[in-house]
Amino acid sequence: MTTSGQDGSVEGGATEGLGFDPTTLRQRYRQERDRRLRGDGNEQYVEVEGRFAHYLDDPYVEPGFEREPLTDEVEVIVIGGGFGGLLAGARLRQAGVEDIRLIDPAGDFGGTWYWNRYPGIACDIESYTYLPLLEELGYMPKEKYSFGKEILDHSQAIARKFDLYRDVCFQTRVEELHWDEDEARWIISTNRGDRMKAHYLCLATGPLNRPKLPGIPGIEEFEGHSFHASRWDYRYTGGDSEGNLTGLRGKRVGIIGTGATSVQCVPHVGEAAEHLYVFQRTPSSIDVKDNPITDPEWTETLTSGWHQHRMDNFNSLVSGIPQEEDLVNDGWTDIITNLLVGIRKGKANDFSPEGMARAAENADFEKMESIRGRVESVVKDAATAEALKPYYRQFCKRPCFHNEYLEAFNRENVTLVDTEGRGVERITKKGVVVGGQEFELDCLIYASGFEVGTDFSRRAGFQVYGRGGKTLADTWAGGVRTLHGMHARGFPNCFIMSNPQAGFTASYPHLLNEQAKHLTYIITKGMDVGSRSVEVTEEGEAEWVDHCIEKAQVTGDFFENCTPGYYNNEGKSSERSAQDGFYGGGSPAFFKILEDWRAEGSLKGLEVK
Ligand code: NDP
Repeated sequence: MTTSGQDGSVEGGATEGLGFDPTTLRQRYRQERDRRLRGDGNEQYVEVEGRFAHYLDDPYVEPGFEREPLTDEVEVIVIGGGFGGLLAGARLRQAGVEDIRLIDPAGDFGGTWYWNRYPGIACDIESYTYLPLLEELGYMPKEKYSFGKEILDHSQAIARKFDLYRDVCFQTRVEELHWDEDEARWIISTNRGDRMKAHYLCLATGPLNRPKLPGIPGIEEFEGHSFHASRWDYRYTGGDSEGNLTGLRGKRVGIIGTGATSVQCVPHVGEAAEHLYVFQRTPSSIDVKDNPITDPEWTETLTSGWHQHRMDNFNSLVSGIPQEEDLVNDGWTDIITNLLVGIRKGKANDFSPEGMARAAENADFEKMESIRGRVESVVKDAATAEALKPYYRQFCKRPCFHNEYLEAFNRENVTLVDTEGRGVERITKKGVVVGGQEFELDCLIYASGFEVGTDFSRRAGFQVYGRGGKTLADTWAGGVRTLHGMHARGFPNCFIMSNPQAGFTASYPHLLNEQAKHLTYIITKGMDVGSRSVEVTEEGEAEWVDHCIEKAQVTGDFFENCTPGYYNNEGKSSERSAQDGFYGGGSPAFFKILEDWRAEGSLKGLEVK
C-alpha cells in the first residue's frame, strides 16, 4: 500500500537495503518539529527599537557625519546599496540611465556584506555563481567560496565600475515615501532632512536586513557586554573578520543561536574566549566545505556568457530540475545528484508522482543520515554529538557547510548548552539560564537572525504612501498583492525587489539580477515614450495573485511539516503564506515568465500613462 503524507512523505515501497528505517525517521522528524512549535510564531522575537535600538548602531563609521539636506529631483532613486540596489543601478546604467541616486543607512555599499563582518564570515554558495556581474567586471573570485571581505570589496567594485558613488546618499535612513499624484513624482523624506523627488523608485531593502532579538524574559537585564552578530563589536573583541579576537582572552562568552552565522563564528570565538557557551535550540545540518583556490587554467577555458549559464545550471539543479551536467558540484547540488544517481542505478524505478516523492524523500533521509554520521565521527563527547544531530528534511532549514564548527565542540573551553528545542529560559543580570542552571557571562552575542515574514514596512524601516495616501502595509493587510512580486496597484512607478510572489533562489543575487533586468526594461520603456506613470492594472494584479495562490500548494505541504524557522514563518504557515510566500512554481519558471513577458513586448498587466 502507498499513502501520501502531508509533508510530501510517501509511505510504502521497498525499504530494504536503505540502511535506515523511513518510518522511524519520519516519526522522529515529526516529534522534533512538534516540540518546537509554539503559538507565538514570529511574535517570539522583539523588535530592535526603543531600548534595544543601540543593537542597530553602525560600528564601522566614525560618529558625527553631517551633510546639507537635499530637495532636488532625480530620475530614479534606489533605496538600498546591497546587491539589489547595486544590480538595479548597474543594469540601469547599462541601459543608459544616467540620473540615478542610491540611498542607504550604511556608510558604504555592500548591504548584508557591509553589516555582517563577524569573524569567519564567508558565503557558502559557490562564488562563481553567487557574486554578481563577474563578467562585466572581469573579476574572478579567489576561491570557490568567498570570504566576506572579498564580497564586500566586490560590491564596492561594482559601484565604482558603474559610477554609482557619483550621487549616493550614505548614512541616510529613509523615513517616508509619498506618491504625489499631481506631479507624478515620489517624495522621499529622510532622517537627514531631505525631501527629494524621483520619477521612478526602486525598493531594494533586502530580505534579511533587520536584525531580530529573541524575546527571552529578562533580556534587558543583562549587565555584561552584548551585541548582535550583524554589528560585530571588534572594539570589544579585538581582531577582524579573519579572527584573532584577542579582546576575548579571559572572557566568558555566550552565543545564542546555531544558524549559519553562529556556525561560522563559533570556531573563532572558541579559540579566543576563556570559555564559550553555545546556546542551541535547533542544530543546523553541517556538511563538508571543500574550498579550493580558483584554478587559472579553468578560468581560461571560460567563454562569454559562462556566468549566466553557471547560475542557471545551479539554480535549476537546486530547484530539482535535472540538468545534463552539474557544473557546481557541491553540497547544494549533491542531494539532487544523489536522487538522479539513485534513479540511474535503479534505486528509484517508480516514476509515478508518489514514486518520485518517495525517491526524493529517501535521498533526503540518506543525505541527513550522512550529516548525522559526520557529527558522530567528529564530535568526541557522545551526548554533545547526539544533541548536534539535526532531525528534519534538509531544506527545512538553511543547510550549512563548515569544517571547523563541529570540531570546536571538542575543545575543553567550548560547551554546547542544548535547550532541547525549548530555547533559552531567561536572561539575568549575570548571564543566561537554561534548565534552571545559570551560565555567568562577560559577553553575550546574539546570532539570532533577521526578521522574515514581518510587515514589509517594518523591515524596511519606513512607510510607503501610495495614491490617496494609502500605505503599502494597509494595502497588503489582507495579503500581498502584486504583479510578478514587483508592482502593486496604487503605487505607480514603484518597483519592489523582494521575495513575496517572486521566485526562490538559494543564491539570492540571482533573483535580484533577474529583477534588476526586468525593472530596467520597464523603466527604459517608460522613459522612451516619456510616460508619466507605469502602474499595474487591477486585472493584472488579480491574475498574478490567483496564480501564486494556486502554485503555493506545491511547497506549502512540505514546509508545513518542517521544524519551525524562517523558511516556514516559524511553523505558522497559513492561507496567508500561500499568498505572501515565494512563487510556488519555482524560480526557473518564474524567470521564464519574466523573460517571456518582456519578449511579448506589450507590458501586459501594466498601464502606461
Ligand atoms: P538564523 O535565523 O538562521 O538563526 C537564528 C538562530 O537563533 C537559530 O539557530 C535559532 O534557533 C536561534 N534562536 C532564536 N531564538 C532562540 C532562543 N530563544 N533560544 C535559543 N536559540 C534561539 O540566523 P543566521 O544569522 O544564522 O542566518 C540567517 C541567514 O543568513 C541564513 O539562513 C542564510 O540565509 C544567511 N547566511 C548565510 C551564510 C552563508 O553563506 N554561510 C552565513 C550567515 C548567514 P531555531 O533554529 O530553533 O529557530
